[in-house]
Amino acid sequence: MIIDVPAESGYGRDNLPYGVFSPPGGDPRVGVRLADVVVDLAAALDDPLFAVPSLNPLMARGKRCWEQVRERIVELVSGEVPDAAVHPLEQVRLHLPFEVADYVDFYASEHHASNLGRLFRPDAAPLMPNWKHLPVGYHGRAGTVIPSGTPIPRPNGQRKAPDEAAPSFGPSRRLDIEAELGFVVGAGSEPGVPVPVEDFAEHVFGAVLVNDWSARDLQAWEYVPLGPFLGKSFATSISPWVVPLLALGGARVPTPVQDPTPLPYLRESEPWGLDVEFSVRWNGEEVSRPPYREMYWSPAQMLAHLTVNGATCRTGDLFASGTVSGPEPDQRGAFIELTWGGAEPVVVGGRPRTFLEDGDEITLTASAPAASGGRIAFGELTNRVLPAR
Ligand code: CA
Repeated sequence: MIIDVPAESGYGRDNLPYGVFSPPGGDPRVGVRLADVVVDLAAALDDPLFAVPSLNPLMARGKRCWEQVRERIVELVSGEVPDAAVHPLEQVRLHLPFEVADYVDFYASEHHASNLGRLFRPDAAPLMPNWKHLPVGYHGRAGTVIPSGTPIPRPNGQRKAPDEAAPSFGPSRRLDIEAELGFVVGAGSEPGVPVPVEDFAEHVFGAVLVNDWSARDLQAWEYVPLGPFLGKSFATSISPWVVPLLALGGARVPTPVQDPTPLPYLRESEPWGLDVEFSVRWNGEEVSRPPYREMYWSPAQMLAHLTVNGATCRTGDLFASGTVSGPEPDQRGAFIELTWGGAEPVVVGGRPRTFLEDGDEITLTASAPAASGGRIAFGELTNRVLPAR
């Protein structure tokens, strides 16, 4: 069949994001999304590389292979696609698209870092002295990276409000989200050999939406001096479709001006970010539109920094940007910022809201300019909060 793509789809022939899906009664395998169908690549291209429940084998092949595969797919979906390889989206099950190796979370938005600084350390400078010299990050928990649709049980833990004499244990009272863009490493690097900024596209396969679920009360009590731990390790959700870097050429934009000039290993002739527009929906109502183009550090600088000490990256590594927040109040990608620590509620469902309640559902979507002039959509990322267990 010829697959019809409405002009406003966001999943046209210039996007073709990869995912892992199960057709009715079939095993998980690799597919690409076009409009509202999933094309079974193992069936359509007769290639065992795609008859597996993970993108990792494809990603490990490297950039030349990614380019060739994309050319084959563009050619495939430009003509007649075998009927047996085409599945309506609503009939398939979507899975985690890749096996997550290591997970790193950065903190690359100056607006977010400044806002959190003001909220967590009201008597100090909003940015720490290191912030404009290196992309601040931490190692997260790969084993709790979960796909869209997975419920999020409210985490339990220690929390101590500033006016409480001693900590107590129980369900988090300040459960929050962080809307982020995540970069997926395809081709790894050698031990001891940093990845220079100009080699980014040799290693990074694509991008996903990330929700870095955060228990602010657990985080505030535990994070000094070693950083985030149990306040974030319970769940990190990602969107089902990996948008190839090869589809994002039309979305490149310069980063904001970087002053002071970074050290040589972080220096790019023209540091570039991506013009990805996020939308955050809380129980179906849009509450924020974070702009990724405002991110201070570029994705290439994040990868260069991640490997500059000789640490390797490997197939399946995920590194997330940190919360995407813009300069305007309605561009903040976390509720602690959006509601200013709970002091300025937003109205959702006709009543004032601050942090997440059991039963709340959060949906992240995003889109970016396509090289051809239309838009490229990232897959929808939706999760619902369950009561603590
Ligand atoms: Ca984060």
